[in-house]
This record gives sequence, C-alpha cells and structure tokens, in this order.
Amino acid sequence: MYELKQLGPRSYYINGSSNMGLYRTGEKDVVLIDSGDDPGVGSRIAERLTEQDWTLKAIFNTHAHSDHMGSNKYLQDKYGCESYMAGMEAPFTRNPTMWPGMLYGACPPKHLWSRYLYGEPCFSKELTPDDLPAGLTTFPAAGHSPEQIGYRTGDGVYYLGDTVVGIPTLNRFGITYIFDVVQYLKTLDEVEKLQGEWFVAAHADPVQDIVPLVQVNRAKVWEIAERIRAFCDGVTEEQIVRHVLNCYRPNMSMTRYYIVTATVRAYISMLADRGDISSYLTDHRIAWYRSR
Ligand SMILES: [Zn+2]
Repeated sequence: MYELKQLGPRSYYINGSSNMGLYRTGEKDVVLIDSGDDPGVGSRIAERLTEQDWTLKAIFNTHAHSDHMGSNKYLQDKYGCESYMAGMEAPFTRNPTMWPGMLYGACPPKHLWSRYLYGEPCFSKELTPDDLPAGLTTFPAAGHSPEQIGYRTGDGVYYLGDTVVGIPTLNRFGITYIFDVVQYLKTLDEVEKLQGEWFVAAHADPVQDIVPLVQVNRAKVWEIAERIRAFCDGVTEEQIVRHVLNCYRPNMSMTRYYIVTATVRAYISMLADRGDISSYLTDHRIAWYRSR
C-alpha cells in the first residue's frame, strides 16, 4: 500500500484503502486528488513526494467523506497549499458534525463519533474553474454524495472517487453508501460513455475499460432496489434495513448500521418516487407496501 504508480506521462496514483491521484503540473509541482483516511496517510503521501523531489501545490477532492479528505489539513499545513471541492461538499469539511448529522438526522450519540464519520476538519474552498491547473478538468459525479465530482487529466486519466466500487468491495459490504439513487444511476450512465486511458476509483484497482465495472455497480443497485420493493408488505423502515442486512450479511459496526440505514432511505425515496412502493402512517408507524 501507498506505492506511487504511474498511469500516464503526468498522471499517477497512490494505492491505499482509498486510492489517491497525483497530477504533475510542472517539473516538480504536483496536485493531489483526494487525500486518504487520516494524517497517517498524509505522511505516507509526503514520503512519496519527497522521494520524487516534488512539491504539493493543491489538493482537489472528489467529495467530503472522511476517507477522501482525511489528510487535507495535515498536507495543507505541511505544504501551505489550498484544498478544493465542489459546491455544497466544501462546507462539510469545515463543520465536522454535518456529515454524521445528515446520516443520523440529529446530533448523534458520542459512541458514533468515530473517525470514519468525523474526518479531521480542514478549510476547503469551493472549487471554481480558475482554481484548476492547466490540463485538469472536472465532470459531475453526484449521487454517492450530494455534489461529488470527478477529475480528468490531460493525459486521459479519470479519477472517479466513489462513483463506482470494485467487486471485492461490493462483495464485502453488499450495500454501499448512496445519497441519491436516481442521480447515482444518471452518473453511471455518463461515466459509462467516458473515453480515457485509465479510470481510477477510490475503492477499486485502476482499469482501462470502465464499462464492466459500471455494469456491475448498476446491476447491484437494481438488485437491492428489487429486494426492497419485493419485501414491502406493510413493513417498517427498520424491518427493511434488517432484511437488506440479512440478504448480504456484511461486516457490521454501529457506524455501518447508520450508513446502511441512510442508504436504504435513499432506495425507499427512489422506489416511492417511481410509484413502486407507498406508505401509510398507521398505529404510530410508517408501513411500506408494494404498489406493483
Ligand atoms: Zn464516499
């Protein structure tokens, strides 16, 4: 882990539990795409930069989840550089209760204050086109998070964040976090059309053909959606969550439970908006039924 691997004349990635991209913008200047889980990862990134005699000029994040911006502050302090992410993702980096608060729906109990939910706070700026170095462009990739973006380098490498995950990750977790399922599927449709040399997702090995991975991730979404739809015969949200977990039996923790619960709510929203399921408030509970 944390090896520097070259994908193009100026494009690289560092492998980790969450892969990070590097783009060389000058003889010795580089920018980073996502910064990994925590300051410990940041120190490994700094080691790779020192070995190459490179200087970090900026960090560009795909989204504000802690495993993508966890060493932003460490690296910003070390190199005196800025970090950037799109629109409404940026405020999450300054307010560490926003993400767990969004998941939980209120201020969560202390035992959920894990580093997985509470990334090291940093000050990320809202990205504008003027902030991007020559050769680096963005593309919309919302769905997994509210305003995730991806990055494309001048030598044809796409950094996808959590737009797709690899098959081992899908098998391990069964259900991965999605904020907006409809938007997530639209993003998959767009990513499937991209032409490039390499595609680097955070939780997958880089691939030169993204289509098979898009298809697997899309199929998993519809598989989960159908499992939920078929189960709706007057059940509560909590029963749906338990059903999904029984189907996939992933490694669980209290934190993961709330991540899965939030994701199931996203699926329920999509199915309800499609007219596939509907709900009734009865006996002080909301019961979900198949509509078709
Ligand atoms: Zn994420």
